[in-house]
Amino acid sequence: MSPPAADPLALGQKLVSILDDGLRTATYKLATLIALLDHAVEHVPADTDAEVHVDLDDLAARVIALYWRPVRDLDGHYLRQSSNPVARIPDTVRTFRTLASRVGGTEPTVDVAARSHPTDYLAAVATVKQVLVTQPLYRLQRVRGAQRHEYFLYDDTWLSDRVSARTLAHHNNRITLLPGVCTTLARLSSLMRPALQISWLDDVRRLNPFLHRDVPDLAAHHFGADRISLDRARSALLENFGPRCFYCDAPTTQHVDHVLPWSRVGLDGLSNLVLACARCNLNKSHLLPDPQFVARALDRGRDRLTDIAETIAWPSQYDRVASAAHGLYATQPAGTPLWLGHRRVDTIRTDFAWPRFTTMTESGE
Ligand SMILES: [Zn+2]
Repeated sequence: MSPPAADPLALGQKLVSILDDGLRTATYKLATLIALLDHAVEHVPADTDAEVHVDLDDLAARVIALYWRPVRDLDGHYLRQSSNPVARIPDTVRTFRTLASRVGGTEPTVDVAARSHPTDYLAAVATVKQVLVTQPLYRLQRVRGAQRHEYFLYDDTWLSDRVSARTLAHHNNRITLLPGVCTTLARLSSLMRPALQISWLDDVRRLNPFLHRDVPDLAAHHFGADRISLDRARSALLENFGPRCFYCDAPTTQHVDHVLPWSRVGLDGLSNLVLACARCNLNKSHLLPDPQFVARALDRGRDRLTDIAETIAWPSQYDRVASAAHGLYATQPAGTPLWLGHRRVDTIRTDFAWPRFTTMTESGE
């Protein structure tokens, strides 16, 4: 049985009940939920009540990206993400990461690794997808102790702990978010994402009892931006757009800033990166910037950004940044703070005039 509409409060409560389930044996459900939230932000449909398909290879790719950092050693330890000794998702990601890191000195980002080792990457996607459909996607909406099964995000009645390739193909290799769910998930994203990350870290502490309660960088180890890799993007930005702060035009060569905050959408493609002075960078922090900044970042041009990205073997993510911007701004409630520049913050008003992000219509469903 599916509910009639995606009421944000009801949906939020159900998501929280997934979080509250203290008996999780792996972090997979949390990662899957974050991946679904991210997908939702990037695919908010023009008709807010529309169904939205989620391609399962895309979802697996998002989950791989989410485990890309956690599977690195922390102080010489490969952290457990599951109580099962064989943890197929993190093990697969770790194996692929190790393989792709052999060439060259610096650790690649997941997009760079996917491009340099396409066959191995596709194999990893296939493995992770298989685990997703038989475990977290199948179990996510089955609340312990519930009288009967009621799905509220997507129809999961065809999933089980054994899903054949034929069944997957029969369902077009996708799940479908119920009417209105995509928009609601996008609206809940900025609330739910941090809550899911906190639960994830709690699980990791529980699964790795040797970790002292306040390991300083456990959060950064899991969810931080990759500062070292970003150096490559920094020199490219410097060379092509000059040693100026994107926001205030002050001379700088210092910081690479994520225009759409990393903590909200996790996009580190060149289209989402700019040079910023320390003042602007620190002051902006996790705030959503004035959408004009995003429009201006995209106005640097899809072709130009893609060309520059190519020269440093870096993803551009132009369309994803445009779609995520659309999804983020379109679903923020009035009153959400907007960063307009150093020490200037306004809030979103109901009559806010949104700029058109370049590919809004092309990349919408
Ligand atoms: Zn500045």
